This record gives sequence, C-alpha cells and structure tokens, in this order.
Amino acid sequence: MMFFGTTNLDLCFNVERLPTPGESLMGALNRNPGGKGANQAVAAARLGLRPHFYTRLGDDDAGRSLSLSLRDAGVRADAIEVCPGEISGSALVLVGDDGSNMIVIDPGANLNVTPAMIDRAAEFIEHDAIVVAEMGMPIPALNRLFEMKRAKGFELIFNPAPVRAGLSSAAWRNVNFVTPNQTEAFELTGVEVHDFESAAHAAGKLLDLGPNAALITLGAQGAFYADAERAFALRAFPVKVVDTTAAGDAFNGGFAASLAQRLPLREAVKRALAVAALCVTRRGAQSSMPTGEAVDEFLK
Ligand code: ADP
Repeated sequence: MMFFGTTNLDLCFNVERLPTPGESLMGALNRNPGGKGANQAVAAARLGLRPHFYTRLGDDDAGRSLSLSLRDAGVRADAIEVCPGEISGSALVLVGDDGSNMIVIDPGANLNVTPAMIDRAAEFIEHDAIVVAEMGMPIPALNRLFEMKRAKGFELIFNPAPVRAGLSSAAWRNVNFVTPNQTEAFELTGVEVHDFESAAHAAGKLLDLGPNAALITLGAQGAFYADAERAFALRAFPVKVVDTTAAGDAFNGGFAASLAQRLPLREAVKRALAVAALCVTRRGAQSSMPTGEAVDEFLK
C-alpha cells in the first residue's frame, strides 16, 4: 500500500487560555510529527503494514527529524523527497486548558509537489495496491495521481481534507472510496451532516461526483457507508475521550490497512472505527495510533 500526502512539524504550545491580539503568554512546547498524510501512513504502519509514503520535506532539521520518526514508526521512506533550499511544512498549534485551539500552518515543501514528481513516486506503487491520498497536496499533483489509477490498477481511497476546488471529473471517477468527515461532506455537497439520515443524503450527492463509494465519518456517532448497491451505518465504539486529534487520520489509516488485509468491507469499516476509537483515548497525533494487537484485544 502507499500513502500520498503532507508532513508537518507541529509546534504545540499548551497554554492556560488562548492569547488575545498583542498579548504574550507563557506556555509549554511539544514538537510533534504531524501532517495528515504522515499521520495516516503511521496509523497503517502501527497496525503492522509496511506502507510506502510519498511526501516532500525540506532539507532542514525539521525534515530530518520528521523523516526519522516516519522510519521509526515502520513507514517505508524510499519515495520521500528531501529537498535542498525548501523548508519543511510546519504548524503552530495553541491549545488552551479548555481544549480550544488556534492553528497556523506553513505548508512549505508540501506545496511544491508537481505532477512530474508524482510520476516518479508512482514507481513505488505495487500491483493491486491500496493507494490513499488526502487533499493537502497541490491539486494538479492529485489529478495526476488519480488519473493513473487504471493504468496502474490500484484501489484508491481519497480523504478530501482540507476541501479545495479543482479536482477533475476524470479524477473523481477514479476514486473507489471518498472519506470525508461531516464538515468536509458539507463543503463538498452543501448537505449538513448531523445524523445517519442526513449522511445518507450527502452520500448520494458525493456519489454523483463520481466515486464508487462514500464513507462519511461522524465523530462520536460513527460512520456511514454507501455505494450504488448498498448502504449501512455503524456506530462509533463508546470510549473515554482524551484527545480527538487525528481521529480521522486513524480511521483512514485503519480502513486502508483493513482493505489491504482483505477484510470484507463491513469488517474493514468496523476495524477503522476501532482504530479511531483507540486513537481518541490517547493524547497526540501519531503517538496515539494503536497497534494491531491493541485493536484485536479491543474487538474481542
Ligand atoms: P475528523 O477527525 O477528521 O474530524 P471525525 O471527527 O468524524 O473525523 O472522527 C473520525 C472517527 O473517529 C469517527 O468516525 C469515529 O470512529 C472516531 N471518533 C471520533 N470521535 C470519537 C468519539 N468521541 N468516540 C469514539 N470514536 C470517535
């Protein structure tokens, strides 16, 4: 399997409360590896797969430490580009004691991905592979990746986050599973998703865009699946929530890993819900991704 997407160094400051303009506050800094693509690849690696990952990093301290942490997690890094003269993506995250946050992102090298780079990276896609992409890479690069689906014969999971315009209709038709959360489903369809019924309505509109299937996540409620033949909803596992950061990334990594392990569809969605449920019981992004053994134990 192979993931395509963004990597950032998250500079997370825990503060008592968020500052007002002009104010200086003291806070505690944690430097955490992040970025949607990286989180998803790490989720799959923690589950025991050895995914390839394509991302673009700067040749700087952040890039070196991000690349190292991906390798340590079990992600295959052969396709990763470390680029002199570019800076690695980073995010400044302020989190108040009440859980409220403020985030500023500098995408850095993530924004410099071109279709030609995707052509090179695609050499690493194995036959019959599962490919996962999120929407943080430039749209021309995503169009190129999606348009090579038939020739390469992979199965494509598309997590449309953050939602942006410009994906070609040919690219949309090559998507096997589109996996938005409630906000992204609304942004793509104009349908407000607040329960399984409205999710069914949004899923119908998502299918009109061209993908074979829509799989919408609804936070603590669970997930809704629909394709041309069937539709079903599965409830989230009730857990004690500590931090929902990267819940969607855990779900996507877990779903992709389950499909790669040839689980039947409904089982794959259920396992993705379990991976995401365990993720929200722990603080952090990549550090909160569960192992395959932990998921097996949880599902017993
Ligand atoms: P995102 O993190 O992208 O906003 P969601 O909030 O929809 O995505 O969460 C993704 C998945 O994470 C959900 O489908 C669910 O499986 C799991 N999840 C999120 N919040 C909770 C929660 N409070 N309890 C249990 N599972 C949760």
